[in-house]
This record gives sequence, structure tokens and C-alpha cells, in this order.
Amino acid sequence: MLAFIKEVYEIKSMDPSGKEEVSILEIRHDPLTGRKVRINVTRAKRPHVVTALTKKEGGVTESDACIFCEEKWDETLQRFVDEEIGGKEGRIIAGSGKSKVVLVPNKYPFAKNHTIVVLGGNHETQISRIHKQTWINAFLAIRKYYEYLTSKHGRQYIYINLNFMYPAGASIEHPHMQVVCEDSVLYAHHLLIEASKKFRRKHGKCYWNLLRNEDKERFAGSGDYFDFVCSFAPVANAETYGIGERKPLDGHTTDEVKNVASDFFRMLRAYENAGFKSMNATIMFPLTEKEAESLPVLARFIARPDPNPHYTCDRGFMEIFYEESVIHTLPEELAEKLSKLL
Ligand SMILES: [Zn+2]
Repeated sequence: MLAFIKEVYEIKSMDPSGKEEVSILEIRHDPLTGRKVRINVTRAKRPHVVTALTKKEGGVTESDACIFCEEKWDETLQRFVDEEIGGKEGRIIAGSGKSKVVLVPNKYPFAKNHTIVVLGGNHETQISRIHKQTWINAFLAIRKYYEYLTSKHGRQYIYINLNFMYPAGASIEHPHMQVVCEDSVLYAHHLLIEASKKFRRKHGKCYWNLLRNEDKERFAGSGDYFDFVCSFAPVANAETYGIGERKPLDGHTTDEVKNVASDFFRMLRAYENAGFKSMNATIMFPLTEKEAESLPVLARFIARPDPNPHYTCDRGFMEIFYEESVIHTLPEELAEKLSKLL
């Protein structure tokens, strides 16, 4: 039922000295949506002029100037207008000491309900240095916010996101999550829901359950909540799916929310240990039990270019105009690597 289709091409050329070189190009088709991606592992070896020009590692640690360190919260963070959610402080605070988090409205929202969660009062820029309890507090704060929102406006789609370091789109180095809630579905989530429903109608089975049970070649392991499978046809370099429960966020117990948080951390730490310095992650929740039958809670993790002062962006014309990704990490090798780090 799961069709892993790829076309493999040997592309020959000669180097400047006349020696023949062969590049292997794989064009893979996503088993669910048919979306095409292009994988050429030799691309990772191509010279990056900017890296050669400067050896300076990216990620300037200037905690003095950081607006997300706890001593700056009072002057820099937004507050909720409604006291019912943020109290007199206008914020949701969870935890204390090193594992303290704060959830506030995003100053520059791009969704109707767009909040940020600042992780920890301390300025830590390595995933592994952020305590597990900090991640748990973040998810508990998010759930509290979600409960408030749904009680006011009915059930919402919720997307929990992380842009880690500048190449991933973070404008501030201090780790923070972004939570987007809307009553309408985001476009790519809609496509996944529709493709998952279609698969279920056609085969009588949930695509994502088949994937977690049958795709042994790219299975990276199971956590407390998610089953992790590296994507056959990644949307960006090194993509892993976390396949979770079949229910909306408000159907989760507190323990389940804690497990979501610890698995989120577990996979991000595995990425860091695998050598990736910048990444994006997201978790999308189904709106209803009915929708969850076709598409359960889904987490996605991708690696971005290493932060260098002048890093090369990984979104070029193929990704932006044609929505076909160009990848340089083989999913099967990624799965093997991550399975040892989870
Ligand atoms: Zn900071």
C-alpha cells in the first residue's frame, strides 16, 4: 500500500582537468501526496564561498543585549489585554528558576492568535542545555492558553513551532517557540488532511499508521509519545515525522502533554547531537476526532544550514517558485544516525 517511488539518474560531467565525474540524482515522490523532491547527496560537498571567507562560527552570544533574557522581560515583552488569560501581569508564566517560561502575544503577529513562548530566564543557545522541565513548562503554558482560547472562540487549529537559530528564521537568538492558532486550517496542513482522507477512503487504512508500522527502512525510533520516521521525500534537508495520537490537543491528559514536550526535546537534542546547528520544528494537531482518524497529531523536524555570518540560504527558486525541494541528506542514513541518538 505504501509506494516508495524514486527515479535514479546518473549525471555525468568532466571536471576542469578532464576527469569524468558522476552525480547521482534521485527524484522521489512522496508516498501520500505525490509531491516531488530532488536528492543529490554530493551537493553537500559543494564549496560554500562564504564559509571559506570566514571561519567565524555563527550565533554571536550577546546575552547582554538579548531582549528575551528574564531581566529584560518587563521592558520588552508584550502583554495580553484580557486579564482573564494573563492575570494582572498580562502573561502566562510557568515554572521557576532555570526552567521558567513565559507565554505572551507576539509583537508582530502573522496570525489572528499568535503568541511566543520564551524558554528559560537564562540565555542558553544550545538545545541540550535547556532543561527538559523547561520544555514541559512551555507545553503546559501553551495548553493553558489553548484552553482559554477555545473557551472564548470554540475549537481552533493549533500549530506549535520552533525556529532555532537565524538560518531557521529566528530573529532573536534566545530560544523561543511560536504558537499559531486560527479557526481556519493552514494551507499545507489542509493538503495533508485531504491526501490522508483520500488514502483512507481508497485503502481503508490510515497512511500514518502504515508508515509508522511498516516503513522499517526510515524508522528512527519511538519516544514516550511519538513514533519517529524519517521522511522518504523530505520537504527540506533531514526531515523527520513524529506520528502521535489520534485526538485534538484538548483531548490530551496532562501526562500526555508532558510526553509531547519531552519527545519534542528528545528529537531536537538528537538533531543537535547529529551535528545540525539550526532547525525548524512544528506540531500540528487535528481539529476533531473525525479528522484525527486520517491524520493524527503530526510533528515535523527539519535541519537548516549551519549558522555562519553569511550562510547560504537553503530556499532557492526550486523551493519557492516550484515547491520542489532539493535535498542533500539521504533519509535512510538520517534514520540510522538518529536511531542511535534518540
Ligand atoms: Zn537571552
